[in-house]
Amino acid sequence: MDVKGKFLGGAGTVTGSRFLLEAGGFKVLVDCGLFQGLKDYRLRNWDSFPTDPAEVDMVLLTHAHIDHSGYLPKFVKEGFKGQIICTEPTLELVKILLLDAGKLQEEEAKFAAKKGYSKHTKPLPLFSQEDADKVFPLLQAISFEEEVKLNDYISLMAYNAGHILGASILKLKIKGEHQEKKLIFSGDLGRYRDPILNPPANIPFGDVVFVESTYGDRTNESENLDKELAKLIRTTYQNGGVSLIPSFAVGRTQMILFYLHRLQEKGLIPDIPIYVDSPMAIDVTGLYKNFPHYHHLGPSLEDQESNPFLHKNLHYYRDQEASMSLNHIRGDAIIISASGMATGGRILHHLYHRLPNENDSVIFVGYQPEGTRGRKILDGEKVCRIYGIDVPVKAGIHFIDGLSAHADQTELVRWCENFISKPKFTFLVHGEKQASEKLAGILKDKLGWNAICPHYLESFELFTGI
Ligand SMILES: [Zn+2]
Repeated sequence: MDVKGKFLGGAGTVTGSRFLLEAGGFKVLVDCGLFQGLKDYRLRNWDSFPTDPAEVDMVLLTHAHIDHSGYLPKFVKEGFKGQIICTEPTLELVKILLLDAGKLQEEEAKFAAKKGYSKHTKPLPLFSQEDADKVFPLLQAISFEEEVKLNDYISLMAYNAGHILGASILKLKIKGEHQEKKLIFSGDLGRYRDPILNPPANIPFGDVVFVESTYGDRTNESENLDKELAKLIRTTYQNGGVSLIPSFAVGRTQMILFYLHRLQEKGLIPDIPIYVDSPMAIDVTGLYKNFPHYHHLGPSLEDQESNPFLHKNLHYYRDQEASMSLNHIRGDAIIISASGMATGGRILHHLYHRLPNENDSVIFVGYQPEGTRGRKILDGEKVCRIYGIDVPVKAGIHFIDGLSAHADQTELVRWCENFISKPKFTFLVHGEKQASEKLAGILKDKLGWNAICPHYLESFELFTGI
């Protein structure tokens, strides 16, 4: 039996993760991500899929982030009928994220129609909420470290990746006529010292390894960031202002809630109300209680005082009216809202009201890519355009680095060092070219690995005649 692979995304970029594997006529797609960011990448979402979706037998998801799952509605619309296998928390997160992505796609199409900037007379969304709905019956949940047979000769095992709730490292075992081979997909790897999630599992053996390389070229210290956060909140409080934290709904919001609760318990920040103003963040936070085996918050979720997601200072605002009421608060509050990059969502009306006030603070807790509103604010632009209006930026603008959900260079190398024997091939995926190449260099020099940086649409013969 021959085993072949093809990179349909996530090669030379951090977006559009998709890898096609073919073994004995069985086609498996590992991750089915949407391309995001630069226009050249986004246009790939509109191309026809490089292989007929109806001919793919199965999709395996490492985790729920849109750059790993967001192409599923279009994939199903174009004829895919197989199972989509993922962990239980990933299954729940995928539902939340895909519906939200469908809504965004519909809104963008409507906006394009209104502004007339689309070359189509009636711009259509890439997929709708209805298309997202059609993905859900195909989702099939598995647990960590439980062997699942995909067919007579391929089996799957998922391990904790520590990146977001339910994120997994996938191991595929392919049994040929003469031998057995193991393929390891790291997915996105988390940190070794995360306050909520467990560290990535060690995988001792693999013949072919696909390693993410988002931070292949940088280290990311996370030692004192809670103290930094505390100082900013204290100063804002002393000035009589409100601290506004733009945050991603999945993972980051929960991490911020964990730190804020701990800082309040230790008396390092005042006992003021914390508002979570994002329906998606509220839905996602609710999942942690349902999946206690996927994180280490443990019994703290059972008790109101010690629960970082349910204590007396914490308020969840789901409806629009409640959200708007926060604009009248002048001080003594922390507001967390999405999106994390200030590209859309409720954070916009908060920024509209907070940016002109010099007593308030905006604290960014995630990387702000070029071209986003968040990046412009962080770069010190004095005016920010929101709802078509130029808003003066007078509030304190801050950035806390190190809260990433991705392993940094040191942690990626540490994960690779845990392999007992050298893999035959190692592919560096999910990284900008420079990050992947840097990590490949380290793996070659330090571990003597055969590390390869693949290109978009490149094919590989992984094994012949196994
Ligand atoms: Zn991810």
